[in-house]
Amino acid sequence: MNLSGVKNEPRLLSEIASYHAHVYYDGQSTRPDAEWLRAAIGERFLVRLGNWHDAKVGPHDQPMVQVSFANDVFASLVPWLMLNHRGLSILVHPNTTNPRRDHLIDPVWLGTPLLLHGESLPEDHEAEEALLPNTTPTIQA
Ligand code: ZN
Repeated sequence: MNLSGVKNEPRLLSEIASYHAHVYYDGQSTRPDAEWLRAAIGERFLVRLGNWHDAKVGPHDQPMVQVSFANDVFASLVPWLMLNHRGLSILVHPNTTNPRRDHLIDPVWLGTPLLLHGESLPEDHEAEEALLPNTTPTIQA
């Protein structure tokens, strides 16, 4: 399949098993903003907060922290991130069976889009279900 619509049937939402939001920061200068954002997300949303990646990892060209979330969290978390990303770049991508496409062609970006090294991503892979949440939200977003 290509981008010009050789296949005419729309893709189905059921392709999306879960989402990730990757919050990027620039070394030490914007890490405090990312720390604030990660904590604020955890207080408000039922998600899986990932570890800090102060060194580049996978396709990512800057330090980042990952947030994994279920499909039904998207409608509240992503608009909240629009209002609260504090200038940080955030990649929000679906998790389907094509991680390369998920990251390079089909994501939404908040803030400034960044370079991704998509060649490291497979084009056929088991779609990742939302990871078990590790937050206990207590604050209304
Ligand atoms: Zn991801």
